[in-house]
Order: sequence, then structure tokens, then C-alpha cells
Amino acid sequence: MPRLPLLNYLDDAGAKAPARAILLRNFALLDAKAGELVSRCEVLVQGHTIAEVRRDSIPAGDAEVIDLGGRTLMPGLIDLHSHILGECFPVAPKMLPSLMAASAANVMRGMLGRGFTTIRDAGGADYGHKRAVELGLFPGPRLFVSGRAISQTGGHGDSRSQADTREPPMCCAQFPGIGRIADGVPEVRKAVRDELRMGADQIKVMAGGGVGSITDPVEYLQYSMEELQAVVDEAQRAGKYVMAHAITAESVQRCVEAGVRTIEHGNLIDERTARMMAQAGRYLVPTLTIYDVIKRSGRSLGFSEASMQKVDAVWEGNARSLELAAAAGVPMGFGTDVARCPEFQSQEFLLRGAVLPAADVIRSATTVGAEILRLPGKLGTIAPGAFADLIAVDGNPLEDLGLLSGQGENISLIVANGVLMKDKVRGPTDSNRDV
Ligand code: ZN
Ligand code: ZN
Repeated sequence: MPRLPLLNYLDDAGAKAPARAILLRNFALLDAKAGELVSRCEVLVQGHTIAEVRRDSIPAGDAEVIDLGGRTLMPGLIDLHSHILGECFPVAPKMLPSLMAASAANVMRGMLGRGFTTIRDAGGADYGHKRAVELGLFPGPRLFVSGRAISQTGGHGDSRSQADTREPPMCCAQFPGIGRIADGVPEVRKAVRDELRMGADQIKVMAGGGVGSITDPVEYLQYSMEELQAVVDEAQRAGKYVMAHAITAESVQRCVEAGVRTIEHGNLIDERTARMMAQAGRYLVPTLTIYDVIKRSGRSLGFSEASMQKVDAVWEGNARSLELAAAAGVPMGFGTDVARCPEFQSQEFLLRGAVLPAADVIRSATTVGAEILRLPGKLGTIAPGAFADLIAVDGNPLEDLGLLSGQGENISLIVANGVLMKDKVRGPTDSNRDV
């Protein structure tokens, strides 16, 4: 086992870039934007970025050359709604932070192995997790963290039961879990400022009822307009944006009016709401998988009776929300929300592929994801200057999205931030961390 270098955890340096360049040859390049394969390209990775993409051969020089044997090379996948601490949520108040970090590391390794080189965490992960990946301490996807999601008392981020009379900050919702409670304009402003201080990349707010929470009906419109507007104002003045949990049409409309940039879930939107989102230039991040998993196996995963009663109506909106958003021209990002069940993450490709063309599904997890993260040209694309996040697939995902499902069985090579993380093309090697 190699010794880790002594690191100053507070300096700005990230993990050291690999000294040796990587030259990828003999593949079909998946151009996500155009939705087509381009043959006879070569790609040179230098440090953390893509140095060159040429429809010709690139001189190898000192680079490590990898022949991909005709596979498809595509940008690393982006999951815009996931929770790396999800396995801890039901028991977080009883867990030491160290054990939670270890669990998150394990979940991240699995996500990377499924080809996800970028994750936007929708509540739970903090700057420490992000930094641990940047420093190379945890092998994992590039993280965009929200810290704790902001919820009203009795809202979707309040995990207390009816019988729990403890007040914040002593109640369970204040533990390093998914949410924190803030009520009233001064408190929500302070909560946003606090999450920004602690390094949130974007602010997550719970703007309506949810399935996983115990005491709130799905139709519950959470937070007053003044509170929602205050959350957006605080985030925007810091140069950040707000993502909101919102399932029903009315809660989505309130979020759009308040200036929320990305709507999470949106299962029960209607035509009018979809049009309103498109006109206002907002994004939808559907998460079909979690509702499908709860509907099919929620009981065995430990979801409460209350959740099981709420899931049917939301699950029924899964496909329809995609159709309505697509018809209205709402750009859609790829989300999964697999909190307690990360192994189902890539099922999202199949659920979406049953409703939308494969090229659109792939764009949601690449180019649209990059737009939402405000890094177009750096993420979700294979182009000079982009981050070197790449995967090689054994076949053409434009013809078979199933190649991206499962646990990464059909993904033979993964490069994350310029580092070779999996190489089944040549078999195990020393340089390969084999996620
Ligand atoms: Zn949610
Ligand atoms: Zn979530």
C-alpha cells in the first residue's frame, strides 16, 4: 500500500495530477450534444484535463497508450440528485461522523464504478467530502455539495416523528444528516448564510411535502413565499443558486415565482407548470428511480407505512412528468435520489429510456448536467480544455441504454479528473485503482 503524502488539508492544492499523459486510441467517440458517434478520433489526457481531441492520430510521446478496442468513449456521467450519505439517513442520529464518512466513501466508490464522475449531492454531503475527493483521500466523483437542506418545522427535512418533542438544535434533524430546520425569514437567511460559510456549492430547500418524510403530506406547500424568496436572495447574492424539492404543480409554480433555478422531482407537474418552467428558463431534475424502488421494495428498505401510502400517486407521475417537460421544452437533468439504495442508481437510464430517446437521456447526464452545474465545456463533454472525466462502454449506449445500467459491468475504463480509476480494457495494472 503506497504511503499517502503528508498534506496540508487547508491549502488550496488539489490531488497531484498524474505525471504521465494518457493517449486513448481506437474507439468511437460519443458526441453527446449531437447524439451521434464519431469514428477515428484520438484523445490525449494531460494532468486533470483533456489536452487534445483529433480526428487523426496523435503522436504518443511519453504518454501511456490505451487501445480501447473499438469501444465507445463518452463523457463521465453526471447525477444531479443523489445523497452520498443516504445509507446513514435512517440511523444518522446514532452514528459517529467518522462512520458516516466511511459509509459515504463506500457509496462514492460505487457511484464512480457505475461511471458517475460527477455528483450533485442534494443534502447531506459537505465541503469535507468534496475536499477528500479533491485531495485523493477518497476515490469518488467530483462533488457539488449542498450541505444540509433547509426545511421548515414539520417539512420534508424534519425527520422527527409526531411523538418527538425535542426542539432544534437538539432534535434529530440537526445531526449531520440531510436537513436543518429554519422558520421565518431571519432564520432562513441565517441558515443559507451558514451553509454558504461551510462551503455549499448550491443551496437546497425543501419546498413541499415528500414521500420519505413521516409527518407531511405530499401536497403540503412548505415555506411562505417570503421565506422562499429570502432563500433565493441569500444564495444569489453569494453567486450561488437554489435547488428545491418540489413534487406537486403548485409547489413547483411557487418555486419558479420565487426564483428557484432547478426543480427536483416534479412528478406531479401539469402542462401549465411545464410551460411556466420553460418560459422562465428553469431546469427539471426528475428522479424516477427512487419512487420506483420505494414502490417496489420500500418496505424491505425500511420506508415507513406513511411513505408507502404516499408513494403510489407520485410514482404514477414518473413517466408523465417527463412527457410534459419534454413537450414544453423544459431542459431536464439526470437525477436518481438513491439515498438508501445506491445500487439502483443506474436504473434511471432504463426508466427514462422507456419514455425518451436515448440521446436525450444521455444529454441529461452529460451536457445538460454541465449547464446546470454552470460548467458547460468543462463537464459532460470530450473537448480540449474539459476536465478529463471519461468512460469507455462495451457497445453503443445510443442504441442500448442498458449498457449504462447495473453496477458498471459494461464500463471497461473510467478516467476521473485525469486519473485512471478502472481499466478492464487491459486487465488489472498497477496504475489502476479498480473501483
Ligand atoms: Zn426530495
Ligand atoms: Zn433527495
